Amino acid sequence: MPTRTRTPNVSAAQWSPNGGALGQADLTLPSANIFGESVFSIAVQRQRLPKGLFKQLEATIAKGNPLEPALADAVASAMREWAMERGATHYTHWFQPLTNSTAEKHDSFYGPTGDGNAIAEFSGKELIQGEPDASSFPTGGIRATFEARGYTAWDPSSPAFILENPNGALLCIPTAFTSWTGEALDNKIPLLRSMDALSKSAIRALGLLGVQGASHVFTTVGPEQEYFLIDEQYFFERPDLVITGRTLYGAKPPKGQELDDHYFGSIPERVLACMLETEQELAKLGVPIKTRHNEVAPAQYEVAPIFENSNVGSDHQQLTMQVMQNVARRYGLVCLLHEKPFAGVNGSGKHNNWSMGTDTGVNLLDPGDTPHENLLFMFFCSAVIQAVNSHQQLLRASVANAGQDHRLGANEAPPAIISIFLGAELEKIFNAIESGSGDAATPQAYLSLGASVLPRLPLHGGDRNRTSPFAFTGNKFEFRALGSSMSLALPNTVLNTIVAQAIDALADKLEAATGAGSSLEEAVLAVVKDAYSANKRIVFSGDNYSEEWHAEAESRGLANLAQSPDALPWLIEPSTVEVFGAYDVLSERELHSRYEVALEQYITTINIEAETAASIARTLLLPAAIRWLGTLQSVSSTGVTKLTEESAALVDQFTDAIFALEAANRDHPEDEFENVLGGAKYVQTKVIPAMAAAREVADRLERIVPDDVWPLPKYSEILFIK
Ligand code: ADP
Ligand code: MG
Repeated sequence: MPTRTRTPNVSAAQWSPNGGALGQADLTLPSANIFGESVFSIAVQRQRLPKGLFKQLEATIAKGNPLEPALADAVASAMREWAMERGATHYTHWFQPLTNSTAEKHDSFYGPTGDGNAIAEFSGKELIQGEPDASSFPTGGIRATFEARGYTAWDPSSPAFILENPNGALLCIPTAFTSWTGEALDNKIPLLRSMDALSKSAIRALGLLGVQGASHVFTTVGPEQEYFLIDEQYFFERPDLVITGRTLYGAKPPKGQELDDHYFGSIPERVLACMLETEQELAKLGVPIKTRHNEVAPAQYEVAPIFENSNVGSDHQQLTMQVMQNVARRYGLVCLLHEKPFAGVNGSGKHNNWSMGTDTGVNLLDPGDTPHENLLFMFFCSAVIQAVNSHQQLLRASVANAGQDHRLGANEAPPAIISIFLGAELEKIFNAIESGSGDAATPQAYLSLGASVLPRLPLHGGDRNRTSPFAFTGNKFEFRALGSSMSLALPNTVLNTIVAQAIDALADKLEAATGAGSSLEEAVLAVVKDAYSANKRIVFSGDNYSEEWHAEAESRGLANLAQSPDALPWLIEPSTVEVFGAYDVLSERELHSRYEVALEQYITTINIEAETAASIARTLLLPAAIRWLGTLQSVSSTGVTKLTEESAALVDQFTDAIFALEAANRDHPEDEFENVLGGAKYVQTKVIPAMAAAREVADRLERIVPDDVWPLPKYSEILFIK
């Protein structure tokens, strides 16, 4: 019998650069500058629309007004011409249902002329609104199938783009997705609403702080995306990876990430080739990728763009995930975005770098050079601290999914307890402001409250804490608890909304204090002092993984919502309903729908995993183990009784574990499944442990069954053959 591993491994290691299709572009040629080539950008709009109409479009977008029909027709016609010149035959309203991915329904540009011919047409109406059948998207009870109408509505603030395919091209129009009653069925609408809310609050506060000139504040996001790239051969040999995105079995390899030799190591040539083509594709789409490197686990990498406003950044992040997966296949690779594809090595997350900036170009979380800039900074920074402390559970809920439960709350970065790392310098300044007195190490200048005192804040040091879930990193906060497969939309919606509320709360106090005669400096410092005192329990600079922190966090009253079923109910807590309602981001009904959808997805994900685990166990792994046991038994007269006994015992254990797993999958008690939370708790407490028990025995079998009999590729192959 040929050995199972060697032949596939040798062929997995072969690759060619996208069939030789891609050569090195000559970047000195202007035509080789591809950035934004496939985007219907403002520059293209200016070029393609009559001057008057272009100005009108700009003004409409800036004010957020509805488009006049005549203007819409002109824009649609310019967009269609531009797209058809680039080979597009179809268009789609590209939207983001509550699935973390994007949806598209393609329509041809061609319409019948009545004489049996067809001409290309695309009206303003078709640009602005579409009507996909909404009944197959999750709505959490907002819409029953008999009232299935859903509408997509053009979002002119996120540019349209062309997705190329070897056999055609598609014009994608970013859109929002609502029910016919106007309720949000997607991730974009609440994000846009939350950006508006934050802008209003921040502009009001800036007025009180004596800053004129800005008329809008944008939230910004720069996501650092982690992912795995593995050879596609192993992927297709593993039904668990194909169906669930993660390995449900797999013994720990002799070598994992212990040697720390992967992080920032040199990037394997095939992987780099794949990254370069991914970046080129993204550049065409106007996604500004900036950074790439190896990550901690073997076969794990990271990619990060330059930050953009939250809406465009979030759309671009969806595109990035899609393009990464498409391009990988051209190199015989598969891109895994699951939060935990492999047990025993690090999973993948997404760091959400977040800040607020004015339309005049001021970053409100940048300490700046003058005392006045520093006052602004301290004010907005205090608002973030207050927001995160007040809504820590909601933030945790915003990043909950089944994949995340292998990371947050398990012993991996970051923990499920939300806390803020400010860095030693900044923490010192807050402490000095709070106490009004400092130790010898604190410059006296920090303490002369009431005068224009705060010196240039030296915050750009190498001061880092990689274990913190929410860290200040110089001119932004980095929310590090997002999962690698997630849309950015919900966590950013939450951040924007809760910070809007905190800014207003602090602005109220500021207004009262200046109204009572305090100087602006005095008033700001008093507000900062109070806010910090009241919320500093959320500030923690130590090791977030340590046992002591868990104990201390509990004594501070911080929440530790380890698993999704613990966290998700916070989507509908009164404090959430209150803030989302007050800022018109999501109504109580809309929040309930999201809560239902999230829990249903949790249950469904675990069910699929558990059924896949049971089927692999019974039809692939158990037969292999029995085959080996049979071989041993057939020769046991020659003195291998010890081995035979060992295998026979494991086969029995495995059989029991499989029976138990099958029972857990089958016996869904009706009363527990009456509501989604009950169902989620059932799969959490019954199904997941049954899966883990079966895996535990299978992984022991993997170590003793011969390689040519074991049917699944092993971690040592998947993670190390590149
Ligand atoms: P690190 O790994 O040190 O955290 P990276 O350079 O990998 O840093 O990523 C930093 C990310 O933060 C980038 O995506 C960057 O664009 C983003 N970023 C920088 N400034 C801001 C800002 N003001 N708002 C949002 N994101 C920002
Ligand atoms: Mg980072």
